[in-house]
Amino acid sequence: MQEILFLLLPIAFYSGWQAARKRYKERQEKRKEISVRFVRGINFLLSEEPDKALDVFLNYPEIDENTANTFLLLGNLFRNRGEINRALRIHQNLVARSDLSKAQRMSAMLALGEDFFAAGMLDRAESVFTELLKDDPKRADACEPLRNIYEQLHEWDKAIEITQCAQQRNKADHSRLIAHYYCELATQELQRQNLFKAEETIQKAAKASPASARVIVLKADLAYARGQRSEALQIYQQAIGKDSRLLGMLFNQLLNNFEKRDELENLYAFIQKTFAKTQDAKLFAYLLQLARKLGKLTDMRTQVEEHLTKGKPSLNTLVHSTEVLASLWREESACEIGQIQTALQKLAASQPDFQCEHCGYKMHGYLWRCPACHQWDTVSNV
Ligand SMILES: [Zn+2]
Repeated sequence: MQEILFLLLPIAFYSGWQAARKRYKERQEKRKEISVRFVRGINFLLSEEPDKALDVFLNYPEIDENTANTFLLLGNLFRNRGEINRALRIHQNLVARSDLSKAQRMSAMLALGEDFFAAGMLDRAESVFTELLKDDPKRADACEPLRNIYEQLHEWDKAIEITQCAQQRNKADHSRLIAHYYCELATQELQRQNLFKAEETIQKAAKASPASARVIVLKADLAYARGQRSEALQIYQQAIGKDSRLLGMLFNQLLNNFEKRDELENLYAFIQKTFAKTQDAKLFAYLLQLARKLGKLTDMRTQVEEHLTKGKPSLNTLVHSTEVLASLWREESACEIGQIQTALQKLAASQPDFQCEHCGYKMHGYLWRCPACHQWDTVSNV
């Protein structure tokens, strides 16, 4: 009996070899067919027939790691070209496939969420990214898009929560952003006259970013809302001292809120002091406006003359300076037109002479081709 079995061995070996050979041949043929499909899809793409290419890729029989990555990139390419519908079709098809690994599915979902975001479908994008985070609470790449969504929706509470999570996950410092979100919430509370809640929120913002100038402005807003006028004015000045750009944002508000003579004098003295320290031309324009309000235009004579001849006059400071000179002229029947001329010459020299009619880019010298939008023959005189 054992001998018969021994004799049957070569036959069993031969039939096993035949079956393996057949399977190998089938696999080879399938692989060949898949390669042909892939090349056909790429050819459609290269010949600018993206819909035909999409049909080939969406009906692709089997996906391995390489093809999954290629499809993912292809979808991203469509999205970057603004062809969101095509990107959505590719990424939705990928997510729905059963032959993807977990990591591939996650990447496809991330891309799908970005497609929804680019298409402005924020609620669908939010649910995709939230699901991703639920699946893997440690991943940080879903936090940033979620933060963008909540920013666009003005859902500041959720924006704070997701930014705090992101901060823990990727160890990056987002405290400035968190402070801005708290400031948005505090502004809402101030508008609703919920002063206690506003104070609480401002404290949270200050804790997130103690150096934030916006937090100081909100503290001043709160003091003003409570009727603490002199304290409010002092805090506003503290904010402007920290960041002089804030004067531009706050100037009209300050003029409206602090209309008493002593308050305006206080503000005038503060801006004088800050201007003397920084020589910031933007401050000078506001200083002249305040001087006019206080009837002190003629006191500004020396400063105006210095600014026009030695400073860096802007169109704005020039407008207000000529007002000072005009008032002097009315008083003394004399006007130094030479100073205005010098200032105007300086200003004109600093302005670009040419502008692109296509994109608005300004330049000092003429160019045949715009360096910003690369269009030809679009540059002309301003
Ligand atoms: Zn241009």
